[in-house]
Amino acid sequence: MSLAGKTAVVTGSNSGIGLGIAQELARAGANVVLNSFSDRPEDHALADRIAAEHSVAVRYIAADMSRADQCRDLIAQAGTCDILVNNAGVQHVAAIDAFPTEKWDQIIAINLSSAFHTTAAALPGMKARGWGRVINIASAHGLTASPFKSAYVAAKHGIVGLSKVTALEVAGQGITCNAVCPGYVLTPLVEAQIPDQMKTHNMTRDEVIKNVMLERQPSRQFATVEQLGGTVVFLCSAAADQITGTTISVDGGWTAL
Ligand code: NAD
Repeated sequence: MSLAGKTAVVTGSNSGIGLGIAQELARAGANVVLNSFSDRPEDHALADRIAAEHSVAVRYIAADMSRADQCRDLIAQAGTCDILVNNAGVQHVAAIDAFPTEKWDQIIAINLSSAFHTTAAALPGMKARGWGRVINIASAHGLTASPFKSAYVAAKHGIVGLSKVTALEVAGQGITCNAVCPGYVLTPLVEAQIPDQMKTHNMTRDEVIKNVMLERQPSRQFATVEQLGGTVVFLCSAAADQITGTTISVDGGWTAL
């Protein structure tokens, strides 16, 4: 399928899942806006590399997704936003009675409120063009819970709700909104933890992955950033025109348990 002529904005896309999604969208022919809060030469070099690899236009725009004004400004600076992927996210793990208030506020701002602000800024253009895709990267934690992840689980359940409301408000206008719910994904961050875990548990790489990290993921296999990117590209296709207001799990069976 070709997304030639479409412009995609992917928040939090200088690493991990966001970068994987940006790459798959570029492979499908979309022009892409990469984003994170940093503004380093390597962020812009990353955009140039993806542009050269896929012969599409790729720009990097620095904007802090914990700030409402910068979320809205990102969409304004992008100029056109046909495909909005709200991916930026952070985590903090602590019991509720020990959870720092500033961490709660930060997680709700980045993982949930940013999607409200970017969506509010992007919808008028999508409505005017009669086509749009809003794809929110939630989590298996948007559908289930784990202890010690109160802010993350609340934000991810929240973004599933926001996706449904967005879908209902634009239904029939050529615009869809869905939440993608990954289980554990093999990102560089996760990969980097494997050697330490091997030492701690005196296990092989395979044992750490299967018995420690993926204990809740029935397939005992990570999802990959390419699979997440492929899911997003599918949601942008004509086959997905009537898929809206729902969740798509990419979690190796986690939420079937
Ligand atoms: P990551 O840390 O590699 O990527 C997070 C991205 O968000 C980075 O590009 C980071 O720079 C950016 N970011 C963080 N704070 C920001 C801010 N204030 N403003 C702008 N950008 C900011 O993590 P990841 O695993 O790729 O996670 C991406 C998304 O996928 C998150 O929403 C996460 O909750 C979700 N997710 C991840 C997993 C997993 O196993 N890795 C599973 C389910 C859901």
